[in-house]
Amino acid sequence: MFRWYSADLHIHSVLSPCAELDMGPINIVRSAEKLELDIIAITDHNAAANVGGVLELTKGGYPRVIPGMEVQTREEVHLLCYFPTLSKLLDFASFIRDKLPGIPNRPEVFGEQVIVNAAEEILGFEDTLLASSVDASVEEVASKVVAAGGLIIPAHIDRPAFSLLANLGFIPPKLPVAALEVARPEKRQGLLRDFPTLNAYNLVSFSDSHFLGQMERNCRTYFYLKEPTFSELTMALQGLEARKVVIGDRGKKPGNRTC
Ligand SMILES: [Zn+2]
Ligand SMILES: [Zn+2]
Repeated sequence: MFRWYSADLHIHSVLSPCAELDMGPINIVRSAEKLELDIIAITDHNAAANVGGVLELTKGGYPRVIPGMEVQTREEVHLLCYFPTLSKLLDFASFIRDKLPGIPNRPEVFGEQVIVNAAEEILGFEDTLLASSVDASVEEVASKVVAAGGLIIPAHIDRPAFSLLANLGFIPPKLPVAALEVARPEKRQGLLRDFPTLNAYNLVSFSDSHFLGQMERNCRTYFYLKEPTFSELTMALQGLEARKVVIGDRGKKPGNRTC
């Protein structure tokens, strides 16, 4: 049966050096439950070692977890990458790892990069700095993701840094993007006026949470789906058979225009 599902597909865990230490799997899942999020994605910078723990914790129930990662390309563009399965994400993670410049992390400067399991037990620390650009272009990353059956969503395109629009000045017309993420959805009408070509794309907005409180933001992306699966999300982003995607307020009817 079709219904609206609320989704936050851009959440950082303790593996991201810039994320707070409260971003462990248990806290993230509890917070998602409290906020009535149906679908979430853990999208750490250039790494995926904590996605398995969150998947294990939810055991296929709610919130549903979409395997994901936020890649920083050679052009310093952030791309959200999503995969149908954990194993496809982990294959992609090893490709990305080989493309990292291999700079050692300095936790006292950049923050800890903690690998944890579903019980939030520390399994180890990532020694290579993850907040770096990988040696792969936007096009190379996108084609790798799409070849694995994944989805690409350029992150926070309306920000002045680490964004496709700011760094390249345009959305490459042939780039196979499923949607564009805006950090300030309440300003999207102005963005669409300034860049009319963006009207051709789905716009989504996620929290980009680096600490728990950020998950409480008001604006949400809602997906109208038959069930909360990766293939249904893909179909919704293609606008197939009644499925749709809208930005709306938390706790209100999807499509509300105040955010
Ligand atoms: Zn980012
Ligand atoms: Zn992010």
